[in-house]
Amino acid sequence: MIQNIAVIGSGVMGRGIAYVAALAGFSVHLYDIDEKSLVTARDEIGNIFQKGIARKKITPQDRQSAENRLVYVHDLGEAVNKADLVIEAVPEKIEIKKSIFEAIDQLSPAHCLFATNTSTMSPTEIASFTTRPQKVIAMHFFNPVHKMPLVEIIKGLETDDETAEIIRGIAEKMGKETVVVNEFPGFVTSRISALVGNEAFYMLQEGIGKPEDIDKAIKLGLNYPMGPFELADLVGLDTRLNNLNYLYQTLGEKYRPAPLLVQYVKSGRLGRKTGIGVYDYTSGGDSR
Ligand code: NAD
Repeated sequence: MIQNIAVIGSGVMGRGIAYVAALAGFSVHLYDIDEKSLVTARDEIGNIFQKGIARKKITPQDRQSAENRLVYVHDLGEAVNKADLVIEAVPEKIEIKKSIFEAIDQLSPAHCLFATNTSTMSPTEIASFTTRPQKVIAMHFFNPVHKMPLVEIIKGLETDDETAEIIRGIAEKMGKETVVVNEFPGFVTSRISALVGNEAFYMLQEGIGKPEDIDKAIKLGLNYPMGPFELADLVGLDTRLNNLNYLYQTLGEKYRPAPLLVQYVKSGRLGRKTGIGVYDYTSGGDSR
């Protein structure tokens, strides 16, 4: 039975996963290598609780109980040594994921399951960094985690059915819908989303229109809830670029990152998390 969850990485996704896990009744250790990120995570999670209470989605008592179950730690051993499940949400770079999975394999109990929140990468490859590949799976949450209804569950080659069923049950306990799919780079959602987002950057680069107009056309003409630039700024342009680079290597030319996206990332325009991406959030959210 899963009671203790460790979340590794307290960025955009990790903090959201920690929030939904604590609210669902799990004991949660949220770990990050960067102490500043943990401080930001605590603030952001506080804001989500506050908004949830204001909108009457949760009660002050729910908040209190969930906060009592959530601890922020800067020591990986402390985070995972009693864990029944570790959910990894570190950047989409295989060498970072490898070092984390090798370490948690040593530090966590033998029965502990491992899930990766990767957007694109192979759970089979990630499982190969451990001695328990049958207990490793991808558990793909969406941003913002507390609002998005889906968890996409991806089985690697060695993942056993029991692990997939337990993970599906945990996602459902967190109030999520699930789909279980087989592994292929990008799964279902990232494969489509990366393509649409990248094409939008090519359009911007070609001077087809302003970001506002491209977003409006996609939202109102194609009935997407968000425009591709609004979504890229929410996801993080660096995260989006990492996804594209991986899909370009694995699936080929159609995922080659648009040069303008590469340029934005080089300049530090990473989206909402840095205050400016395609849109400038420091001056009311207009494009520059
Ligand atoms: P992020 O950059 O916001 O956060 C990553 C966090 O990991 C940072 O706080 C960083 O300090 C920490 N970190 C870096 N190296 C670490 C290490 N060795 N040990 C512990 N912590 C470490 O990234 P994110 O957007 O939260 O993405 C995390 C994962 O989730 C990626 O695999 C990404 O592809 C995936 N994902 C992202 C989104 C999204 O919309 N951003 C959606 C679904 C999945």
